[in-house]
Amino acid sequence: MAYIEIRYCCPICKAAHSEYIEAVRCRNKHDIIVERWAVGKHKKVRIFENHHKDSCNGENGALKEADLSDNIHERRKQLEELRKINGG
Ligand SMILES: [Zn+2]
Repeated sequence: MAYIEIRYCCPICKAAHSEYIEAVRCRNKHDIIVERWAVGKHKKVRIFENHHKDSCNGENGALKEADLSDNIHERRKQLEELRKINGG
């Protein structure tokens, strides 16, 4: 006859354990996930370590993007101002 089995699953990696304490140990051994975000005047942009630093999710690109508006007209003005400042 069939019977009921209890599994204790880690909420992080979903691995099933036969004892509650094993699931607690499994949960506690997982590292904390650290995220880096560029916080600007207009938004927050996530920084990914494996992206080129000047791409939009690289460190430099994210810092620049976070200060730019999503409004296309305002954004164009901001980019023109940046070009003047950088002498381009
Ligand atoms: Zn786990």
